[in-house]
Order: sequence, then structure tokens, then C-alpha cells
Amino acid sequence: MCARKRNTIDINSLVRRNVLAMKPYSSARDEFHGEAEVFLDANENPYPSPFNRYPDPLQWKVKEKLAAIKGVDPKQIFLGNGSDEPIDLIIRAFCEPNQDSVMITEPTYGMYKVAADVNAVNVQPVLLTPDFDLDLDAIPNTFDATTKVIFLCSPNNPTGNLLTRTKILEVVKRFYGLVVIDEAYIDFSKSKSFIPEMKKYPNLVVLQTFSKAWGLAGLRLGMCFASEEIINILNKIKYPYNVNIKTQELAIDALDNVYRKDIWVDEILKERKALESELEKLPLVEKVFPSDANFLLVRVKDAQSTYQYLMNNRIIVRDRSRVNLCYNCLRITVGTPEENKRLIEALKQL
Ligand SMILES: *Cc1c(COP(=O)(O)O)cnc(C)c1O
Repeated sequence: MCARKRNTIDINSLVRRNVLAMKPYSSARDEFHGEAEVFLDANENPYPSPFNRYPDPLQWKVKEKLAAIKGVDPKQIFLGNGSDEPIDLIIRAFCEPNQDSVMITEPTYGMYKVAADVNAVNVQPVLLTPDFDLDLDAIPNTFDATTKVIFLCSPNNPTGNLLTRTKILEVVKRFYGLVVIDEAYIDFSKSKSFIPEMKKYPNLVVLQTFSKAWGLAGLRLGMCFASEEIINILNKIKYPYNVNIKTQELAIDALDNVYRKDIWVDEILKERKALESELEKLPLVEKVFPSDANFLLVRVKDAQSTYQYLMNNRIIVRDRSRVNLCYNCLRITVGTPEENKRLIEALKQL
């Protein structure tokens, strides 16, 4: 493990040299700031349609509203085409292909490895403990000087549990590189976000998304929170207009109406509890794992046949039985009361 000797981290020393040296693309909208009435700078079609103008490349209106809700500065936010964009950009900015590595814990969200593979960046997997928590004995044995980024997902997908907070902080403190905490499911959790910890730990990056609690998976909008220094690097290499006008408008609307998200979350948490207790009554269910997310990982007697049976009944769950530590496990998203009832009724007939 590339252990931390000093308390400060020189972020620029972690960035790929070509990224550090390059000049970013400068769009018309980057170069002009201020009030104007006649825009002849971007070769747009002048005739009004809702979308004849390019969007704000840095989405300041969205970020100002989001910053107020999350308690950060707008400059500490990067917005992308889903969380997938910041995941990819972090790897591209910080990991030299065919040389550097990222560490992931298994089982976890698949995109970290896919993004690393696409970029020819080595992946160092470390198994979680049998109760799906960080293994602080194994982790230091896996790192080396090539490890630039660690991805931790909490609450974790597909297991649904939180990683222990003190263990995460232990990794953040000891590692000289970026620690990315993916909080896609944080709104469903009783635990607090790691965003406030960014003040203390300059190597901390937090990912959240509009795809789950906010109910906007179809929009594709992911959030990345980090120091201004890290955000500037991601902005430097992103596509100039990576978030379209419609998405920015609908995000602002969602942020102006946080209560809608809160109502959904309350409803889903109630349903999660009910679904958990219904599942536990079924003889085919061996274990329902504790969840801080909007899904349940469920160990059944025979995952593949149960999956097939549900599919024949036009109910789709996720078969995770071939994933590390998840033998005979299905991942079941919490649906509406009617949908959950249909699932339970179908399983009772099996
Ligand atoms: C669903 C999910 C996301 C969201 O990805 P988007 O690209 O923002 O839709 C991110 N991380 C994890 C762990 C997820 O399960």
C-alpha cells in the first residue's frame, strides 16, 4: 500500500502528467461571461426552439441549488452523464494506462472495473468479509505504489449494507491517493453522508446520483463532490457540454421540490420493511440481508430456478448468485405496494 506519510496530499502529484500539462477545450460559452443580448459566438441556429442554444457547460444554476442542500461550495461539485461519467473521468485523470491501479472491494458495483478495463488500468480486487464489510487486514496487503484510487460503495450494491464508517475513515486516512465513496443509495440509509468529511480529508471524493431516490434514472445525472482542486481536474477533461439543457431544467425542478423525493423515500422504506418481513416468512428464503438501500439481497434455496420461475411470471429480479460471496442470492428492488405484493404472491405459489 502506498501509505501516507504526511497529513497533506498533493493532488497534482497524483494527476497524469499529460492531463496536468494539457490545455482544455475552450468553448464559446466558456470564454464569454456576463450579460449580452446578441449571441453570435457559437454558430448556433438563431431561430428559437427550446434547444437552439448550447447549455451552460458548468451547470451553475443546478450546482447553486445543490450546494445549498448538500452544504458545499458550488465549485466542489461536478455533474455528469450519470455517475458513470465521474467514475470514468476519475480513472482517466489519475491512472496511467498499463501502469497504475485502482482498488475495488468485491462484491460491488460493476462499473468501477468496467471503467478501469476500458482505460487499461489494473484492478486490484479485495474481498469483503463474509458480513460484507471492509477487511482492514487484507486491504493494506493489496495496495502498492501503483494504486491511485480506491472505490468504496456504501451502502454497497449488490449487498445493500453500509460499510463501517470508522473503517472507511481508516482507509481514507492511511491511503495516499483518492478514496471515492459511492453513495448512490445514501438517501435510503440511516447513516449520514461523507460529504462533511471532505473538509478534513482532501483525498475524499463522494458520488451521488439522481437515478435512485430522486426518481430520475432516465435523465442521466450524476453528482460528484470533492475539493475544488479535484473538481477542476474533472472539468478540464470532460466533454464541454456534458449535461443537456432539459436535464439541467428538470434537475432544478427536482431540487426546488425536495419533498417529492422525501415522500418517495419514506414510502420505499416502509415497503422495504414490509417486504423484508414477508420474505422472511417464506420457506424458500434462507436469509434476507440487512439493507440500507432500496433493494434487498435475499439468499434462497435455489436462486437460478427461483429467478426463472419469477421471470415466467413476468417478474424480473436480479440474479446475483454467481457473484463473489453471494451464492444463491437474488437482488430484489423495492417496488410499489402492488408490485411487492405480486412478488410475494408469486413466491408463495412456488
Ligand atoms: C445505480 C448506481 C449508480 C447510479 O449510476 P448512474 O450512472 O448515476 O445512474 C451508481 N453507483 C451505484 C453503486 C449504483 O448502484
